[in-house]
Amino acid sequence: MNGREHHGFILAAAIIPFIGVAVAIVLLWNKLVGWSDMVALVIMYSIAILGISAGYHRLLAHRSFQTNRAIKVFLVWAGTIAGQGPALIWTAHHRRHHRVADKPGDPHSPYLDDEPGWRGALKGLWHSHMGWLFDKDLTSDPIRYCPDLARDKDIRFASNHFVGIVVGGIVFPGFIGLAITQTWQGFLTAVLWGGLVRFFLANHVTYAVNSVGHYFGRRRFDTPDESRNVAWLAIPSFGEAWHNNHHAFPKAAFHGFYWWEVDLTAIFIRGLETVGLAREVVRIPKDRIRARADGLSRVGGGRAAPSAPPKPLAERHKVSTSGGVADVE
Ligand SMILES: [Zn+2]
Ligand SMILES: [Zn+2]
Repeated sequence: MNGREHHGFILAAAIIPFIGVAVAIVLLWNKLVGWSDMVALVIMYSIAILGISAGYHRLLAHRSFQTNRAIKVFLVWAGTIAGQGPALIWTAHHRRHHRVADKPGDPHSPYLDDEPGWRGALKGLWHSHMGWLFDKDLTSDPIRYCPDLARDKDIRFASNHFVGIVVGGIVFPGFIGLAITQTWQGFLTAVLWGGLVRFFLANHVTYAVNSVGHYFGRRRFDTPDESRNVAWLAIPSFGEAWHNNHHAFPKAAFHGFYWWEVDLTAIFIRGLETVGLAREVVRIPKDRIRARADGLSRVGGGRAAPSAPPKPLAERHKVSTSGGVADVE
């Protein structure tokens, strides 16, 4: 897939599921929705989100655990179905995000726009959520950021057949609907809910980790970026929203650090490990978590450090209206 095709895909991936959601709402109005559609939605949503969180993110981008070839291929295909880009491109952008999070060079930071006030804040949030995907000049070279993955022929195969796998992931739920209802109407509405509505929901949840997860929420660790833990997003994102935890310990396989930090992906990985299908699962000892949370390992991080990221635009605006200073940086 070349740059132009990728751009065309991103555009289609933004518009078509959106139309699907509109159609689904109209059908909902007319009560043209059955429990088979909800089954298709839950199954396909879980596959896509797990593919992104356990596959693309924790297995490929961070190597937080190892697994056998069959599970790797399943997770890579599941992540591909989500339609957020081929594994190689996704992981290249993501590794780059971690290297320079919220600093120049970060592909999707909400803080890199200079416009003050709420307009700038909205522009930053839009850029980090989806806008960056439409920037034709924004590319992260997979050979530079993930040479290890570029050598893997299973990952190359899924990347080369990206569009076919994504379309397959939209059509497949139709067969769940057909199996349950034995009707073609059941097939079509399951494609709508398990294919397009699922596509829309799962993608916006992932994108929200990049936008909301660097803007609104609590910080346990004084990381040199603006990552946040967003509790309300934890369940829909299958644990990816414990994003401040993740930036503090990027290689950790479990992003929820305490029992109340629900992390469905961690449960999945632990399950794989229990049945012998995951190994070298990276765990962070509790005393390291506590020490870092207490600020004992803050050296070089945090807003007071010289390398601190730009302050949230909302704060800049506060300074500019009260102190008459356009930019506090
Ligand atoms: Zn991040
Ligand atoms: Zn990450």
